[in-house]
Amino acid sequence: MTTHKAHCLILPYPAQGHINPMLQFSKRLQSKGVKITIAATKSFLKNMQELSTPVSIEAISDGYDDGGIYQAESFAAYITRFKEVGSDTLSQLIETLTTPGCPVSCIVYDPFLPWAVQVAKKFGLASAAFFTQSCTVDNIYYHVHKGVLKLPPTDVDEEISIPGLVTIESSDVPTFEINPESARILEMLVNQFSNLDKVDWVLINSFYELEKEVIDWMARIYPIKTIGPTIPSMYLDKRLPNDKEYGLSVFKPMTDACLNWLNHQPVSSVIYVSFGSLAKLEPEQMEELAWGLRNSNKNFLWVVRSNEESKLPKNYLEELKLASENKGLVVSWCPQLQVLEHKSIGCFLTHCGWNSTLEAISLGVPMIVMPQWSDQPTNAKLVKDIWEMGVRAKQDEKGIVRREVIEECIKIVMEEEKGKLIKENAKKWKELAKNAVEEGGSSDRNIEEFVSKLVTIS
Ligand code: UDP
Repeated sequence: MTTHKAHCLILPYPAQGHINPMLQFSKRLQSKGVKITIAATKSFLKNMQELSTPVSIEAISDGYDDGGIYQAESFAAYITRFKEVGSDTLSQLIETLTTPGCPVSCIVYDPFLPWAVQVAKKFGLASAAFFTQSCTVDNIYYHVHKGVLKLPPTDVDEEISIPGLVTIESSDVPTFEINPESARILEMLVNQFSNLDKVDWVLINSFYELEKEVIDWMARIYPIKTIGPTIPSMYLDKRLPNDKEYGLSVFKPMTDACLNWLNHQPVSSVIYVSFGSLAKLEPEQMEELAWGLRNSNKNFLWVVRSNEESKLPKNYLEELKLASENKGLVVSWCPQLQVLEHKSIGCFLTHCGWNSTLEAISLGVPMIVMPQWSDQPTNAKLVKDIWEMGVRAKQDEKGIVRREVIEECIKIVMEEEKGKLIKENAKKWKELAKNAVEEGGSSDRNIEEFVSKLVTIS
């Protein structure tokens, strides 16, 4: 029987981009001898297409066991009910886990669910907030929380200058539509800081070398530890014992179709295109993107989720399949890490969700950034101007990125001198990401320190 050093209860917000990094972090803790239990909502578990993980998963309830957020009448209703029912069911779970052997000593929670701190306090447990956004974005929300910054900015031409950050344009801060639903989402993002003065640790899925200045600045206020990138060890050249591919996914990846196709493409020839698990493109944008990719005359692998497929131009998929040169493949979901590390991939056209950004950095893939909303414009700014790892596909005054712009960006990254520089930077960041999580690296040291503190309180 394995003896564990400590027991952590992990509470992710039930969305793909939150579960992925928290599951990977859990596996890393487990490899260092910590027992892990993930508390996932019943509705999330019900919709799981892939479920293969070495860590234990237990169900809690968000009050909407059939459809989760999609069953709720509004986002506000979902968050309110989740707090109420989630606190109760999480408490019940902690009581059952307390009985045999190795009781829970710490809750690692997603700060989208700040009520987890009260639950931890009730049971005398330590708590660690796990931020799934970049430290830069966290700093922006922190300043909104403190009332120093207003989102959306009042003046569109305003320059934003807040401590810990380089000066940025108002178009580079997180973006939200102006409607009650988006206002509630922003409120939740800002509320991530509401209980943060009571936690023992603030864990951030980033690494020190990537965001030094802002991490140093935030560390003066909160007990910050960067622990990322949380991608599985085999993608960083050094497999941890028993580390398997991750397997908690709401979408079913078309793994064989993707890999078979990629295996037939020349080295660095393919543009991988994905907008993550949530973004909904305007039909006009979808059309421009579709033709931009076709007209680029390059190979592309494009993830179009099934709920977005109807926005593709008429006969697009049929024509793509019939085209003799076999230049494009559209799939409904792919194993993104396996795709990004494939030798045929030349660049990643991405919405700049934080996981996708960090995955591209970790695997050294140059980016074409096409942010949509929330933290994506800020991540895009970092990719283009600070890490110099990509180009930005600019929108026109209607907010649409036109096909010619997409073609031009592809040309720059894949063919031009500037693209070479971007590729060199990509290699550099990949190396730094790998160093951070390898034994003795900045993130590995932080995880070690976190584990030793857990052991002392267990
Ligand atoms: N992803 C994937 N297959 C796909 C598209 C995305 O596995 O076809 C994964 C990707 O690797 C990342 C997550 O889904 O870990 C998306 O998270 P991100 O923060 O990039 O975007 P979000 O979905 O939150 O907008």
